[in-house]
This record gives sequence, structure tokens and C-alpha cells, in this order.
Amino acid sequence: MTVSVAETVDVAIVGGGITGLAAAWAAHKRGLRVQVLEARGTVGGKIRSEHKDGYLIEWGPNSFLGSATAIWQLVEELNLQGEVITGAPPGDRFIFRNRLARRLPSGPGDFFKNNDFMTLSGKLRMMCEPFVFGDARETDSLLDFARRRLGPEAAQYLVAPFVSGIYAGDAEQLGARDAFPQLWQWEHESGSVVMGALLSSGKKAKPQTPKRRGMFNFKNGLGTLPFAIAAALPAGSVRTATAVDEVTGNADRTWTLRCHATKDEAATSEVRARHVILAAPPQISARTLPQDPALTPVREALDGVQLCRVAVVHFGGADKTQVAPKGFGMLIPPGEGLRTLGILFPSSVFAGRAPAGHYLHSGFLGGARDPDAAELPDDTLLSLVQRAQEQAFPQTAGDALGLDFSQVIRWRDAIPQYRVGHRERMTLARETLHRAMPGVTLAGNYLDGISINDSAASGIAAVERLFPENNLVTTRRSA
Ligand SMILES: Cc1cc2nc3c(=O)[nH]c(=O)nc-3n(C[C@H](O)[C@H](O)[C@H](O)COP(=O)(O)OP(=O)(O)OC[C@H]3O[C@@H](n4cnc5c(N)ncnc54)[C@H](O)[C@@H]3O)c2cc1C
Repeated sequence: MTVSVAETVDVAIVGGGITGLAAAWAAHKRGLRVQVLEARGTVGGKIRSEHKDGYLIEWGPNSFLGSATAIWQLVEELNLQGEVITGAPPGDRFIFRNRLARRLPSGPGDFFKNNDFMTLSGKLRMMCEPFVFGDARETDSLLDFARRRLGPEAAQYLVAPFVSGIYAGDAEQLGARDAFPQLWQWEHESGSVVMGALLSSGKKAKPQTPKRRGMFNFKNGLGTLPFAIAAALPAGSVRTATAVDEVTGNADRTWTLRCHATKDEAATSEVRARHVILAAPPQISARTLPQDPALTPVREALDGVQLCRVAVVHFGGADKTQVAPKGFGMLIPPGEGLRTLGILFPSSVFAGRAPAGHYLHSGFLGGARDPDAAELPDDTLLSLVQRAQEQAFPQTAGDALGLDFSQVIRWRDAIPQYRVGHRERMTLARETLHRAMPGVTLAGNYLDGISINDSAASGIAAVERLFPENNLVTTRRSA
């Protein structure tokens, strides 16, 4: 049975992750009628927080930054300021090297003192960055770029693990210009990343809002945000458990979205919309497009985006003798003999993540370099992460730390990989779609950055592209 939703909405949004919800909120603020269609039973996509056995775990993202302007704007507009919590300073970060965790310097003054994360010659080579000839090429991989700018040691022990920590990615495959466009641009324009950063900070207008530093979350986890957006939209604006299968054009320049209920494939429905934002993962957005040859470049570009698999291993227990490492977490460079990519220490950063006297840590495995690790059995994953922790922090070995909680989360489409040429392929996809299906646009974490802030900004930008004339209705409040 197919049910048609009678009224034509101004904008239908496919996907109720942070991209789709931020788009819905931006459209609603402009006085537009919105319909979000989300395949899962709940909104949030990768953002999901869960209270379990006294612990609070994050299925996907675990924090946002002070510079996350799109997220802060949502926080203010939804009156969530009282829910935000700040990560505890000083937030030590560690790199695993030669069988031990080594503390990263907390600032330039600390760079040569009291730390052994790199050899003296590696540090001196890094300091030469402003004097190394600028040779930015569009085809640079991130590893090429890092070796040229910072030297081989920093490339291996800083950049490669950093890239694992953000993209779960492979620095040899990611494009420097695609994954870190600002750094690449600084070298391209000023011949050096340091010089480019200095020149650009001189040109920047002073921010009007106070600068927020550090990592942030909500008392009840990041899931607070998508739920708050969905609750603030008019009733009926968000339909969960509804997967969109196809978007087709009508003679009156509207679009029909054919959907099915995810719990009952035979229960189909249709939504009619004047505009459509495709905010689902790229391969799914590709599948909803009509089989028009003009759209082949769009389908090929979206299908070609590599999404890596990641397993997140949360584990916690009593820390009677206070041996659990404190700080933000540890990254593990490739080639150090461990399959774990890194371990975060959420209970040391944010309040309320573990019962009193207990720790909660989160290990990450899989990613672009070792995707099959994400499929290992739960017990194997847990023991790999515990082994990595015990090697890095020997004080935690044996029975020093209790273990009364563990949970493994697996993502098959965790993080898009911005490989060399990615941004050009996505620009082509966007422009071709715009010509072939005017009124339909793409948004999501595979377009303009992977963070939740970039994703929200991508959703908001999609609304601004579709409805430039409605911008004046924006109700943005200042901080
Ligand atoms: C393990 C992990 C850790 C991360 N850590 C951080 C972090 O600390 N900080 C940070 O800023 N970012 C982090 N990220 C990245 C960030 O979480 C994501 O990039 C962002 O949440 C993506 O949002 P999105 O809405 O674009 O996509 P998604 O969250 O994937 O949402 C897409 C939605 O589309 C829905 N959908 C799929 N098919 C259909 C269909 N046919 N019809 C309707 N709906 C459909 C899906 O169910 C989903 O809800 C992390 C990601 C992961 C996986």
C-alpha cells in the first residue's frame, strides 16, 4: 500500500543525522515547511549517546571544539547552553613510540623540554618548516606534504597517527589539499605553513564572540543536540523508520520521494517537495537518483567515496589505585606493532562518563589501513585494546585496573576518506546534479569536512544555496 503525503513541503531532507537536522532547522528558521526522512528508528546518525551500567558512552563522535561555530549557533538557538560541559584541562595527549606512551608537548615552550616523543634531530627538522622550499602540488598526498614540510620523523610519528585519530585514514591515500585544505593553501600561497598561518592571523578580523578553547560535550552526551533539534521542529517534521528509495521529478517542477518503512518494506509512502536535500551517506544518495545518463558522473563520484569501517571499544571499571592515565588520549602510529589506532580517556575529560572511582576508556580499531580489524570478535577487540593500553602505560598492567563494563560499536560507513582529488570530484558531482535536477542538492560529511561542525555547516549551506532569498528571515541570536 502506498500512502501519499497530501501537501507539498518546501524542502524534503533525506537523512536525519546532524547534516540533515541542521538543514531542517535552518529551513524552519526561514519560515519553510520541512520534512526530514530518516531510515533508522531514531535521529542523530553517527551521533548517539547511551547511558549503560552507570557509564555514558558515545557511539560515534565524542566532542566538539570551541571553534565549532555552526554547533555553537545551534546550542544558542536551541537554548542548550546550560547542557554544555567543558573538557577538563590540561588534557595531556600521548603518542605511542618504542613500546611506551610519550607525552606530546603542550605548547612551543615545552617542545624541547621533558619529552621524548621525537628525537632531537626530528624536532630540529620540524623547526626548519618556514625555511623549506614551498612546492605545494594538487596531487600531494598528506604523507608527501608532511614529509616535505616537517620531515620524515614528524610525518610518521605526528601526522600519520593524527590522521588515524581524525579520519581513521591512511596518510598515503588522503590528499593534502583535500583533507587539510587550509594547511595546503598556506604552503601554496606563502611557501610555508607557519608563514601562511602567521600572515592569515594578521589579516583576520577580531572575532566578535569570546574565544572558546578546548573540547566540549553535553551533560548527557552529544545525542542531546540531534534530539533537541528534532524536538524544536514543528510536530510531524521528522519521520523516522522511513527510508527514501528514489527521488523523481514531476512536470510541475516538484519532486516525489518514494519511501518504505524500514520495519515493513511493503509499507511504502510518497512525499512531494519543491526542493530536496540529500543528506544521507554518498552511496545511498547516489542510489536515490533517477537512472538518467546525465547523472552518471554524480553517481560515479558518490559511489567512489571510500567510507572506512571502524570499531569503537568502550571499556571501564574501578580505578582503586588511581593508575588510569589522565588526559585526552593516546594515538598509535602505524608500524609500532599494535592494531589499535588510539585510545581516548573520556572519563578523564568529561564529568559523568563513569561511576565515581571508575574510568571509561574508548579504543578505536579498523580504519582505512586495517579495515578487517573492525570485524574481529568483541573479545578479541577488547583484548587488543587492553594490551595496547598495558604496553603504553605499564602501571595499568595485570589487575591494576578493574573491568566491569565493555561494549563494542561497529560502523561500516564510519568516516569518508578525502583521497587525492576528492574535492574536485565532489564539486563536479554537485554542479552536475544542480544542472540535471535543479532544486535538489547534496549535503554531508563527505563534502566540506568530516566533523560534526562541518556536517552541520554543510546542511545549513545547502539551505542557503536553495533559498538564498530567504536569508533575511534568519533569527540568529548573538552569544
Ligand atoms: C567513531 C566516530 C568518531 C567520530 N568522532 C568525532 C568527533 O569526536 N568529533 C567530530 O566532530 N566528529 C566526529 N566524527 C565524525 C562525525 O560524527 C560525522 O562525520 C557526522 O556525525 C556525520 O553526520 P551526517 O549527518 O553527515 O551523516 P550521518 O550521521 O551518517 O547521517 C546520515 C543519516 O542518513 C540516514 N539514512 C541512510 N540511508 C537513508 C535513506 N535511504 N533514507 C533516509 N535516511 C537515510 C542514516 O540512517 C543516518 O541517520 C566521528 C565519527 C565516527 C564514526
